[in-house]
Amino acid sequence: MAENEGGHRRRGGVGLILAAALFGASLAIVLWSRPAAAESSVLFNDEHFHLTNYIQKGPTAKQYVAMMGDKIGRSALFGIPLQQTWAYENSGDFAPTYYLESDAPLYYYSFTDAVIATEYLSLTPQERARLDPMITGFNPADMYAVDHIRRVLATFPGVFEGIGEFSIHKEFVSAKVAGNKASLINPALDRIFDFAGEAGLLVILHCDIDTPFDKGDREPIYLTQMRALIRRHPAATIIWAHTGLGRVVAPKGQQATTTPVRNKNHIEILDELLEDSSLKNLYFDISWDEVAKYAISSPGTEKRIADLLNKYPSRFLFGTDVVAPQDQSAQLRVFHLWDPVFALLTPEASLDIRKKNYERLFDAARIHVRAWEKKNLSNPSP
Ligand SMILES: [Zn+2]
Repeated sequence: MAENEGGHRRRGGVGLILAAALFGASLAIVLWSRPAAAESSVLFNDEHFHLTNYIQKGPTAKQYVAMMGDKIGRSALFGIPLQQTWAYENSGDFAPTYYLESDAPLYYYSFTDAVIATEYLSLTPQERARLDPMITGFNPADMYAVDHIRRVLATFPGVFEGIGEFSIHKEFVSAKVAGNKASLINPALDRIFDFAGEAGLLVILHCDIDTPFDKGDREPIYLTQMRALIRRHPAATIIWAHTGLGRVVAPKGQQATTTPVRNKNHIEILDELLEDSSLKNLYFDISWDEVAKYAISSPGTEKRIADLLNKYPSRFLFGTDVVAPQDQSAQLRVFHLWDPVFALLTPEASLDIRKKNYERLFDAARIHVRAWEKKNLSNPSP
Protein backbone atom coordinates (compact mmCIF):
# COMPACT_ATOMS: atom_id res chain seq x y z
CA MET A 1 0.00 0.00 0.00
CA ALA A 2 2.83 2.37 0.85
CA GLU A 3 3.86 1.84 -2.78
CA ASN A 4 1.04 4.08 -3.89
CA GLU A 5 1.09 6.95 -1.51
CA GLY A 6 3.84 9.45 -0.84
CA GLY A 7 1.99 10.44 2.32
CA HIS A 8 2.09 6.91 3.65
CA ARG A 9 5.78 6.79 2.99
CA ARG A 10 6.44 9.98 4.88
CA ARG A 11 4.34 8.80 7.80
CA GLY A 12 6.29 5.54 7.73
CA GLY A 13 9.51 7.55 8.00
CA VAL A 14 8.20 9.43 11.03
CA GLY A 15 7.25 6.10 12.56
CA LEU A 16 10.78 4.87 12.16
CA ILE A 17 12.20 8.00 13.77
CA LEU A 18 9.86 7.50 16.73
CA ALA A 19 10.99 3.89 16.91
CA ALA A 20 14.56 5.10 17.05
CA ALA A 21 13.76 7.50 19.87
CA LEU A 22 11.95 4.84 21.83
CA PHE A 23 14.14 1.84 21.31
CA GLY A 24 17.59 3.20 20.65
CA ALA A 25 19.90 3.77 17.76
CA SER A 26 20.79 0.16 17.06
CA LEU A 27 17.17 -0.76 16.35
CA ALA A 28 16.84 2.31 14.16
CA ILE A 29 19.75 1.15 12.04
CA VAL A 30 18.06 -2.21 11.56
CA LEU A 31 14.78 -0.57 10.56
CA TRP A 32 16.33 1.95 8.19
CA SER A 33 18.36 -0.70 6.44
CA ARG A 34 15.33 -2.84 5.59
CA PRO A 35 14.97 -2.98 1.81
CA ALA A 36 11.22 -2.37 2.11
CA ALA A 37 11.89 1.13 3.47
CA ALA A 38 14.05 2.06 0.47
CA GLU A 39 11.60 0.44 -1.95
CA SER A 40 8.65 2.36 -0.63
CA SER A 41 10.19 5.74 -1.49
CA VAL A 42 10.49 4.82 -5.17
CA LEU A 43 8.26 7.00 -7.35
CA PHE A 44 8.78 5.26 -10.67
CA ASN A 45 10.96 3.13 -12.91
CA ASP A 46 12.23 5.08 -15.92
CA GLU A 47 11.47 3.18 -19.12
CA HIS A 48 12.91 5.86 -21.41
CA PHE A 49 16.28 7.28 -20.45
CA HIS A 50 19.29 8.41 -22.51
CA LEU A 51 22.61 8.31 -20.64
CA THR A 52 24.32 10.18 -23.45
CA ASN A 53 23.33 12.99 -25.81
CA TYR A 54 23.67 13.73 -29.55
CA ILE A 55 27.42 14.15 -29.16
CA GLN A 56 27.78 11.00 -27.03
CA LYS A 57 28.35 12.82 -23.77
CA GLY A 58 26.66 12.33 -20.43
CA PRO A 59 27.19 11.13 -16.86
CA THR A 60 28.83 7.82 -16.11
CA ALA A 61 26.52 4.95 -15.23
CA LYS A 62 27.91 5.11 -11.70
CA GLN A 63 26.96 8.77 -11.41
CA TYR A 64 23.56 7.98 -12.86
CA VAL A 65 22.79 5.27 -10.31
CA ALA A 66 23.70 7.76 -7.58
CA MET A 67 21.30 10.28 -9.19
CA MET A 68 18.49 7.72 -9.24
CA GLY A 69 18.81 7.61 -5.46
CA ASP A 70 15.75 6.28 -3.68
CA LYS A 71 13.22 7.94 -6.02
CA ILE A 72 13.89 6.06 -9.26
CA GLY A 73 13.85 2.31 -8.77
CA ARG A 74 15.08 0.95 -12.09
CA SER A 75 15.93 2.52 -15.40
CA ALA A 76 16.42 1.61 -19.02
CA LEU A 77 19.92 2.56 -20.14
CA PHE A 78 20.68 3.68 -23.66
CA GLY A 79 22.59 6.28 -25.56
CA ILE A 80 21.47 7.95 -28.77
CA PRO A 81 22.22 6.11 -31.99
CA LEU A 82 22.88 9.30 -33.93
CA GLN A 83 25.82 11.63 -33.67
CA GLN A 84 25.49 15.29 -34.65
CA THR A 85 28.33 16.27 -36.96
CA TRP A 86 30.21 19.43 -36.05
CA ALA A 87 30.61 20.86 -39.53
CA TYR A 88 32.90 23.85 -39.38
CA GLU A 89 31.60 25.23 -42.65
CA ASN A 90 28.11 25.27 -41.13
CA SER A 91 28.41 26.53 -37.55
CA GLY A 92 32.05 27.62 -37.36
CA ASP A 93 33.35 27.64 -33.81
CA PHE A 94 29.90 26.90 -32.40
CA ALA A 95 29.88 23.22 -31.42
CA PRO A 96 26.30 21.90 -31.74
CA THR A 97 25.12 19.42 -29.10
CA TYR A 98 21.53 18.94 -30.33
CA TYR A 99 20.03 18.11 -33.69
CA LEU A 100 18.24 21.45 -33.90
CA GLU A 101 21.47 23.41 -33.51
CA SER A 102 22.99 22.71 -36.91
CA ASP A 103 22.11 21.90 -40.51
CA ALA A 104 24.95 19.39 -40.64
CA PRO A 105 23.98 15.71 -40.91
CA LEU A 106 23.55 13.10 -38.21
CA TYR A 107 25.18 9.71 -38.65
CA TYR A 108 24.82 6.32 -36.91
CA TYR A 109 27.38 6.05 -34.16
CA SER A 110 27.57 2.32 -33.43
CA PHE A 111 30.22 2.73 -30.76
CA THR A 112 27.44 3.93 -28.46
CA ASP A 113 26.65 0.30 -27.68
CA ALA A 114 30.22 -0.34 -26.54
CA VAL A 115 30.04 2.76 -24.36
CA ILE A 116 26.80 1.66 -22.73
CA ALA A 117 28.05 -1.89 -22.18
CA THR A 118 31.34 -0.68 -20.70
CA GLU A 119 29.52 1.71 -18.39
CA TYR A 120 27.17 -1.05 -17.26
CA LEU A 121 30.00 -3.51 -16.68
CA SER A 122 31.79 -0.96 -14.47
CA LEU A 123 29.00 -1.28 -11.90
CA THR A 124 28.55 -3.61 -8.94
CA PRO A 125 26.00 -6.44 -9.31
CA GLN A 126 23.59 -4.50 -7.06
CA GLU A 127 23.87 -1.41 -9.25
CA ARG A 128 23.51 -3.43 -12.45
CA ALA A 129 20.29 -4.97 -11.18
CA ARG A 130 18.70 -1.50 -11.36
CA LEU A 131 19.60 -0.88 -15.00
CA ASP A 132 18.29 -2.43 -18.22
CA PRO A 133 20.69 -1.73 -21.11
CA MET A 134 19.48 -1.40 -24.70
CA ILE A 135 21.21 -1.61 -28.09
CA THR A 136 20.70 1.43 -30.32
CA GLY A 137 23.73 1.84 -32.61
CA PHE A 138 22.35 0.40 -35.83
CA ASN A 139 20.92 1.85 -39.02
CA PRO A 140 17.35 0.53 -39.34
CA ALA A 141 17.49 1.13 -43.11
CA ASP A 142 20.37 -1.35 -43.45
CA MET A 143 19.71 -5.03 -44.16
CA TYR A 144 22.89 -5.68 -42.13
CA ALA A 145 21.51 -3.92 -39.03
CA VAL A 146 20.51 -7.21 -37.48
CA ASP A 147 24.10 -8.43 -37.79
CA HIS A 148 25.21 -5.48 -35.68
CA ILE A 149 22.67 -6.36 -33.00
CA ARG A 150 23.84 -10.00 -32.91
CA ARG A 151 27.46 -8.87 -32.79
CA VAL A 152 26.77 -6.60 -29.80
CA LEU A 153 25.13 -9.49 -27.92
CA ALA A 154 28.09 -11.73 -28.74
CA THR A 155 30.68 -9.10 -27.75
CA PHE A 156 28.92 -8.11 -24.52
CA PRO A 157 26.99 -11.20 -23.36
CA GLY A 158 24.98 -10.82 -20.19
CA VAL A 159 24.41 -7.09 -20.73
CA PHE A 160 21.65 -6.10 -23.15
CA GLU A 161 17.91 -6.72 -22.89
CA GLY A 162 16.44 -4.86 -25.82
CA ILE A 163 16.82 -2.52 -28.76
CA GLY A 164 15.94 1.15 -28.80
CA GLU A 165 15.01 3.80 -28.53
CA PHE A 166 15.65 3.93 -32.25
CA SER A 167 13.75 6.07 -34.73
CA ILE A 168 12.04 5.47 -38.04
CA HIS A 169 10.24 8.76 -38.61
CA LYS A 170 11.14 11.67 -36.36
CA GLU A 171 10.60 15.36 -37.04
CA PHE A 172 13.77 17.11 -38.29
CA VAL A 173 15.92 14.10 -37.35
CA SER A 174 14.96 11.72 -40.20
CA ALA A 175 15.75 14.31 -42.83
CA LYS A 176 19.18 14.96 -41.31
CA VAL A 177 20.35 11.36 -41.27
CA ALA A 178 23.10 10.74 -43.79
CA GLY A 179 22.32 8.10 -46.41
CA ASN A 180 19.05 6.33 -47.16
CA LYS A 181 16.12 7.04 -44.87
CA ALA A 182 14.50 4.52 -42.54
CA SER A 183 11.02 3.33 -43.39
CA LEU A 184 8.34 1.18 -41.79
CA ILE A 185 8.03 -0.85 -44.98
CA ASN A 186 11.74 -1.59 -45.37
CA PRO A 187 12.49 -5.34 -45.04
CA ALA A 188 15.60 -4.35 -43.06
CA LEU A 189 13.20 -3.44 -40.25
CA ASP A 190 11.40 -6.78 -40.56
CA ARG A 191 14.71 -8.57 -40.12
CA ILE A 192 15.33 -6.55 -36.95
CA PHE A 193 11.87 -7.30 -35.55
CA ASP A 194 12.13 -11.00 -36.46
CA PHE A 195 15.35 -11.19 -34.51
CA ALA A 196 13.91 -9.23 -31.57
CA GLY A 197 11.12 -11.80 -31.39
CA GLU A 198 13.55 -14.71 -31.60
CA ALA A 199 15.99 -13.41 -28.97
CA GLY A 200 13.38 -11.84 -26.67
CA LEU A 201 14.78 -8.33 -27.10
CA LEU A 202 12.31 -5.69 -25.94
CA VAL A 203 11.79 -3.02 -28.63
CA ILE A 204 11.40 0.72 -27.98
CA LEU A 205 10.55 2.39 -31.27
CA HIS A 206 10.13 6.07 -31.99
CA CYS A 207 7.95 6.69 -35.00
CA ASP A 208 5.96 9.88 -35.42
CA ILE A 209 2.42 8.89 -36.28
CA ASP A 210 2.15 11.81 -38.69
CA THR A 211 4.11 14.59 -40.36
CA PRO A 212 4.87 17.78 -38.40
CA PHE A 213 2.25 20.50 -38.15
CA ASP A 214 -0.39 18.40 -39.90
CA LYS A 215 -3.82 20.01 -39.78
CA GLY A 216 -5.77 17.71 -42.05
CA ASP A 217 -8.67 15.45 -41.24
CA ARG A 218 -7.12 12.42 -42.89
CA GLU A 219 -5.73 9.42 -41.07
CA PRO A 220 -2.20 10.05 -39.71
CA ILE A 221 0.25 9.08 -42.46
CA TYR A 222 2.19 6.35 -40.65
CA LEU A 223 -0.66 4.73 -38.71
CA THR A 224 -1.50 2.05 -41.26
CA GLN A 225 2.14 1.10 -41.85
CA MET A 226 2.84 0.95 -38.13
CA ARG A 227 -0.17 -1.23 -37.45
CA ALA A 228 0.87 -3.63 -40.21
CA LEU A 229 4.46 -3.78 -38.93
CA ILE A 230 3.37 -4.70 -35.39
CA ARG A 231 0.94 -7.28 -36.74
CA ARG A 232 3.68 -8.88 -38.83
CA HIS A 233 5.79 -9.46 -35.70
CA PRO A 234 3.60 -10.92 -32.96
CA ALA A 235 6.61 -12.50 -31.22
CA ALA A 236 8.25 -9.12 -30.63
CA THR A 237 7.21 -6.99 -27.66
CA ILE A 238 7.06 -3.44 -28.97
CA ILE A 239 6.81 -0.17 -27.06
CA TRP A 240 5.73 2.70 -29.31
CA ALA A 241 7.46 5.70 -27.78
CA HIS A 242 5.44 8.82 -26.96
CA THR A 243 2.33 7.14 -28.43
CA GLY A 244 3.56 8.41 -31.81
CA LEU A 245 3.54 12.10 -30.84
CA GLY A 246 6.41 14.56 -30.79
CA ARG A 247 7.53 18.12 -30.42
CA VAL A 248 5.55 19.26 -33.47
CA VAL A 249 3.51 16.14 -34.11
CA ALA A 250 0.46 17.09 -32.13
CA PRO A 251 -2.48 14.83 -31.36
CA LYS A 252 -5.43 15.14 -33.68
CA GLY A 253 -8.33 17.11 -32.21
CA GLN A 254 -8.56 16.67 -28.47
CA GLN A 255 -12.33 16.78 -28.56
CA ALA A 256 -14.35 13.72 -29.37
CA THR A 257 -15.18 13.57 -33.05
CA THR A 258 -18.57 14.91 -33.98
CA THR A 259 -18.90 14.37 -37.71
CA PRO A 260 -18.49 11.17 -39.69
CA VAL A 261 -16.10 12.79 -42.18
CA ARG A 262 -13.68 13.94 -39.51
CA ASN A 263 -10.89 11.54 -38.65
CA LYS A 264 -10.54 9.96 -35.22
CA ASN A 265 -8.72 11.93 -32.56
CA HIS A 266 -5.49 10.60 -31.05
CA ILE A 267 -7.08 9.02 -27.99
CA GLU A 268 -9.61 7.25 -30.19
CA ILE A 269 -6.80 5.93 -32.38
CA LEU A 270 -4.93 4.59 -29.35
CA ASP A 271 -8.12 3.04 -28.00
CA GLU A 272 -8.70 1.27 -31.29
CA LEU A 273 -5.12 -0.08 -31.40
CA LEU A 274 -5.32 -1.30 -27.80
CA GLU A 275 -8.66 -2.96 -28.44
CA ASP A 276 -7.28 -4.84 -31.46
CA SER A 277 -6.62 -8.48 -30.55
CA SER A 278 -3.99 -8.75 -33.31
CA LEU A 279 -1.87 -6.10 -31.55
CA LYS A 280 -1.47 -7.65 -28.11
CA ASN A 281 2.30 -7.19 -28.40
CA LEU A 282 1.95 -3.40 -28.60
CA TYR A 283 2.64 -1.09 -25.65
CA PHE A 284 3.01 2.66 -25.40
CA ASP A 285 5.26 4.83 -23.33
CA ILE A 286 4.21 8.18 -21.97
CA SER A 287 7.51 9.99 -22.05
CA TRP A 288 9.14 13.27 -23.13
CA ASP A 289 8.16 16.62 -21.65
CA GLU A 290 7.30 17.79 -25.18
CA VAL A 291 4.51 15.20 -25.22
CA ALA A 292 3.35 15.75 -21.64
CA LYS A 293 2.41 19.29 -22.71
CA TYR A 294 -0.45 17.85 -24.79
CA ALA A 295 -1.70 15.59 -21.99
CA ILE A 296 -1.90 18.40 -19.46
CA SER A 297 -3.21 21.07 -21.81
CA SER A 298 -6.65 21.18 -20.15
CA PRO A 299 -8.58 19.41 -17.38
CA GLY A 300 -10.76 17.81 -20.05
CA THR A 301 -7.76 16.31 -21.82
CA GLU A 302 -6.26 15.12 -18.55
CA LYS A 303 -9.52 13.32 -17.82
CA ARG A 304 -9.72 11.69 -21.27
CA ILE A 305 -6.13 10.49 -21.05
CA ALA A 306 -6.63 9.19 -17.52
CA ASP A 307 -9.73 7.31 -18.71
CA LEU A 308 -7.66 5.65 -21.44
CA LEU A 309 -4.87 4.72 -18.98
CA ASN A 310 -7.42 3.37 -16.51
CA LYS A 311 -9.00 1.31 -19.30
CA TYR A 312 -5.67 -0.27 -20.40
CA PRO A 313 -3.38 0.00 -17.36
CA SER A 314 -1.16 -2.90 -18.41
CA ARG A 315 -0.29 -1.32 -21.80
CA PHE A 316 1.38 1.96 -20.81
CA LEU A 317 4.77 2.66 -19.24
CA PHE A 318 6.03 5.91 -17.80
CA GLY A 319 9.44 7.20 -18.89
CA THR A 320 11.13 10.58 -18.73
CA ASP A 321 13.08 10.68 -22.02
CA VAL A 322 15.63 12.78 -20.19
CA VAL A 323 18.98 13.04 -21.98
CA ALA A 324 22.35 13.13 -20.16
CA PRO A 325 21.11 14.80 -16.95
CA GLN A 326 23.32 16.48 -14.37
CA ASP A 327 21.15 15.53 -11.43
CA GLN A 328 17.90 13.86 -10.45
CA SER A 329 15.79 17.00 -10.82
CA ALA A 330 15.45 16.68 -14.62
CA GLN A 331 13.70 13.32 -14.31
CA LEU A 332 11.55 14.35 -11.35
CA ARG A 333 10.43 17.45 -13.24
CA VAL A 334 9.11 15.34 -16.15
CA PHE A 335 7.51 12.89 -13.73
CA HIS A 336 5.63 15.63 -11.89
CA LEU A 337 4.31 17.13 -15.15
CA TRP A 338 2.02 14.10 -15.16
CA ASP A 339 0.75 14.64 -11.60
CA PRO A 340 -2.70 15.87 -12.73
CA VAL A 341 -3.15 12.72 -14.82
CA PHE A 342 -1.71 10.37 -12.20
CA ALA A 343 -4.13 11.89 -9.67
CA LEU A 344 -7.05 10.64 -11.78
CA LEU A 345 -5.78 7.05 -12.02
CA THR A 346 -6.88 4.17 -9.85
CA PRO A 347 -4.10 3.18 -7.40
CA GLU A 348 -3.62 -0.05 -9.35
CA ALA A 349 -3.33 1.67 -12.74
CA SER A 350 -0.91 4.23 -11.32
CA LEU A 351 1.30 1.51 -9.88
CA ASP A 352 1.20 -0.48 -13.14
CA ILE A 353 2.20 2.50 -15.29
CA ARG A 354 4.86 3.88 -12.95
CA LYS A 355 6.46 0.58 -11.94
CA LYS A 356 4.91 -2.81 -12.51
CA ASN A 357 4.66 -2.90 -16.31
CA TYR A 358 8.30 -1.94 -16.46
CA GLU A 359 9.27 -4.78 -14.14
CA ARG A 360 7.17 -7.31 -16.04
CA LEU A 361 8.46 -6.43 -19.51
CA PHE A 362 12.12 -5.87 -18.67
CA ASP A 363 12.29 -8.91 -16.37
CA ALA A 364 10.89 -11.08 -19.17
CA ALA A 365 13.40 -9.60 -21.63
CA ARG A 366 16.25 -10.28 -19.22
CA ILE A 367 15.27 -13.92 -18.91
CA HIS A 368 14.67 -14.44 -22.64
CA VAL A 369 17.80 -12.72 -23.90
CA ARG A 370 20.02 -14.50 -21.38
CA ALA A 371 18.47 -17.82 -22.45
CA TRP A 372 19.04 -16.96 -26.13
CA GLU A 373 22.67 -16.10 -25.40
CA LYS A 374 23.15 -19.36 -23.54
CA LYS A 375 21.77 -21.33 -26.44
CA ASN A 376 23.37 -19.42 -29.31
CA LEU A 377 26.68 -17.97 -28.14
CA SER A 378 29.71 -20.15 -27.61
CA ASN A 379 30.85 -18.20 -24.60
CA PRO A 380 27.93 -16.63 -22.74
CA SER A 381 28.74 -15.02 -19.43
CA PRO A 382 27.28 -16.73 -16.35
ZN1 LIG B 1 14.07 9.32 -26.32
